[in-house]
Amino acid sequence: MARLLKGAPVTRRLIESLVRRAAALRDGGIDPTLAIVRVGAREDDLGYERALAKRCDAVGIGMHAEVLPADCSQAALKETIAHINGDAGVHGCLLMRPLPPQLDERAATGLIAPGKDADGATDASLAAVLTGTGVGHAPCTADAVMELLRFYDVPLDGVRACVVGRSLVVGRPVALLLQAANATVTLCHSHTRDLATECHRADVVVVATGRPATLVAACTRPGQTVVDVGIHWDERRQRLVGDVDFDAVEPIVGAITPVPGGVGSLTTAILARHVIDAAERAAGGTMGA
Ligand code: NDP
Repeated sequence: MARLLKGAPVTRRLIESLVRRAAALRDGGIDPTLAIVRVGAREDDLGYERALAKRCDAVGIGMHAEVLPADCSQAALKETIAHINGDAGVHGCLLMRPLPPQLDERAATGLIAPGKDADGATDASLAAVLTGTGVGHAPCTADAVMELLRFYDVPLDGVRACVVGRSLVVGRPVALLLQAANATVTLCHSHTRDLATECHRADVVVVATGRPATLVAACTRPGQTVVDVGIHWDERRQRLVGDVDFDAVEPIVGAITPVPGGVGSLTTAILARHVIDAAERAAGGTMGA
């Protein structure tokens, strides 16, 4: 039976440290603050906003939402983001996506000041992940994967890692972060010829394809660590499932993340960490861990 790498203990430890760091910032006269930009009132956005409000409250981060009507113009969105960029009292900015079709999402995201890009969504943030320098953050889900691996002391230095999926939000940044941690990384995608062989030889496999059961028993072997980033509603089983065939893979591998309760459960805490990181930068340096 595999070791279950649950997100909850990782989140707990992260929140404890963020509470201390937020208190140190407030002692220094800085109120760490996140601004959310929401266009319209999509139920997904509202749910995420509620989860973030709870998380920010628990950490000691101020949060407010700038809400624009669903039919707003690109100019209005631009003005809202510019206002946040110029507000020294705001340390992180999150633009809820997807945006309505009349808006250019890529252009809007690109307007967020890299230092306030709490979601790691701008090209500047991706460049920072690529170069290991700069002020941007990795996308929250990619950072969540790394936080989880670190928490459970999964060795990365010198090991073979296989990342399945090459999106800019998950696969590619995870591959870069694993490489920065000295893993030897193979990045697989829908054109990969023999996925089973690529995954089988890896010590750590991260799966982010958006397709249930991409990783099956034939891709795995004893001793592997499997991180499942996927999240889908399985109508037949009436439950959430990931991109890994958990029931087939779990009896074989050494460790595996559950869905739900794995990587996904960590992302709001990671976003809170990005806000604290940015507020500390604004304060001129780290103010305690
Ligand atoms: P994308 O659709 O943007 O990318 C999917 C990637 O998987 C592509 O690179 C694609 O290859 C590759 N792929 C698709 N099918 C296969 C296959 N059969 N074999 C190998 N590679 C394949 O998805 P995202 O990266 O945005 O999301 C991936 C998963 O992570 C989803 O399940 C999503 O719900 C989940 N997710 C979870 C989050 C969380 O907080 N837990 C946050 C974000 C995403 P190609 O490039 O060739 O098309």
